[in-house]
Amino acid sequence: MKLGRRKFLGLGSAALVGLSLKTERKVEGSFVNDSFQMGHRLRDRVSFPAPKRTEKVPVVIVGGGIAGLSAAWRLRKRGFTDFVLLEMNAQPGGNARWGENEITAYPWAAHYVPVPGPRAEYVRELFEDLGVLKNGQWEERYLAFSPQERLFLFGRWQEGIEPAIGLTPKDRDQFQRLEDLFGEFRKSGAFTVPVELGRSSKFQDLDRISFSDWLRQRGFDSRLLNWYMNYACRDDYGALASGTSAWAGIHYFSSRESEEKGPLTWPEGNGWITRRLLERVGENIRTGQMVHRITETRRGASVFAGDTEFQAEFVIFAAPTFLAPYLLENFPRLHDFVYSPWLTANLTLDRYPESRGAEPSWDTVFLESPALGYVDAMHQSLRTHVDRTVWTFYWALAEGAPAENRQLLLEKDWAYWKEAVLHELQRVHSDIRQCVSRMDIMRMGHAMIRPAVGSIFSEQRLRMSRLNGRMLFANSDLSAISIFEEAQYHGVKAAQKVLKRLHG
Ligand SMILES: Cc1cc2nc3c(=O)[nH]c(=O)nc-3n(C[C@H](O)[C@H](O)[C@H](O)COP(=O)(O)OP(=O)(O)OC[C@H]3O[C@@H](n4cnc5c(N)ncnc54)[C@H](O)[C@@H]3O)c2cc1C
Repeated sequence: MKLGRRKFLGLGSAALVGLSLKTERKVEGSFVNDSFQMGHRLRDRVSFPAPKRTEKVPVVIVGGGIAGLSAAWRLRKRGFTDFVLLEMNAQPGGNARWGENEITAYPWAAHYVPVPGPRAEYVRELFEDLGVLKNGQWEERYLAFSPQERLFLFGRWQEGIEPAIGLTPKDRDQFQRLEDLFGEFRKSGAFTVPVELGRSSKFQDLDRISFSDWLRQRGFDSRLLNWYMNYACRDDYGALASGTSAWAGIHYFSSRESEEKGPLTWPEGNGWITRRLLERVGENIRTGQMVHRITETRRGASVFAGDTEFQAEFVIFAAPTFLAPYLLENFPRLHDFVYSPWLTANLTLDRYPESRGAEPSWDTVFLESPALGYVDAMHQSLRTHVDRTVWTFYWALAEGAPAENRQLLLEKDWAYWKEAVLHELQRVHSDIRQCVSRMDIMRMGHAMIRPAVGSIFSEQRLRMSRLNGRMLFANSDLSAISIFEEAQYHGVKAAQKVLKRLHG
């Protein structure tokens, strides 16, 4: 009777620690793909050695993410091969990079593409090229297998991520009312993918308030509904609903048909698309080439990377746009370009944790977690028996200011983040520490553009995407929404402008 509650808990947890230490495995791993040391040389404006050689080339593409690779794909598809793509990292792909171990290939960031709607013409064309879309049919093995998504809430599992357990009549009513509103926005035709094809000033007011304010103003106060809206913003934008433009929040739910199939996914996520693009444009790519300066010339621009000055007629700038003021002289200050910091972790599992009655799914999410959950790389495997796998764990550092979170990403060591990830997983998979043998972690300070209030209709952003000169911008951040389709759209569009100028 004398044992107070705290003391009792203290003893209990000591006993548990003892227990877990005995059975815990050593987890190997490290930070991987760090590129901030290179990026900070640009930020700190260190001086780079003078070039030793010059190379004349009509077109230079800066950045080998999906935007840059898509520009290259369009140029080569139109028979134009006289260009180089300069990528600062050893591996191209940007946010669509992948890794591979003895078990499977796995994504480092982007892992799926929703089945493209009719307006995403370039994406459909690409998928026809890659054999994903054949005679109007989506290749079955690339559509996410069932069960696709599961959510852990109130001590149990449910299928799907939208909360369906523990809803009060008020919650249900609010979910229905919001779905109806999204349906109306969908019907308006103004919320499209790509964004540029539908965006209309009729809904500009929605870009002047945050998504959370918009929800509050309409009386949406259900806790579960607000969790779900925040989850969506964290997942696609790396931001909370309070840091997201209402226009972008609505776009997430209103830009696609609700009854669509899919999504399209591969073990290595969008790395599969990167691989296919590399097969087509690889010859033009120079990796390990960080562009550190671009100067305008009479006939185009000089692009400086490594020991070379590339003298180009056209430059497609597909690296993140926030770098432009660091590379181009007298480039105006950029407003409305805020980026969300993220980390991803790839965990090698030597066995699956106990399932506690739920079938493993492609995507697993936990209610009220600061992280976003994980994706199973073996989910699309056609093997009949799978015992080992790789999970990609996603964490957008959405709470607090991006600059502070970038600092945190750098300050804390690998062991800290490893523990943070395992701690989150352990809440749901109590035996996770006995399953994981390796965890590699990737830190991305400026992972993706954040569609903050005012960014969708930002004058500066609209002006930059309309440029028609010798310097063209193409990163997905021009849409203020970072998804595959936007990156591909801007890349292809920039390449078409160049081809038009070159060939009329
Ligand atoms: C964790 C995470 C998960 C995501 N998941 C998805 C998803 O599932 N589906 C989806 O559709 N989208 C997802 N995205 C969004 C993703 O950003 C886009 O889909 C797309 O891959 C962005 O491509 P991009 O070419 O515009 O930019 P980036 O991928 O950022 O590419 C820019 C490239 O430029 C290079 N570069 C930068 N500076 C220089 C320089 N000075 N010189 C030379 N090269 C330089 C970079 O190394 C990089 O390769 C995710 C993003 C993140 C961060």
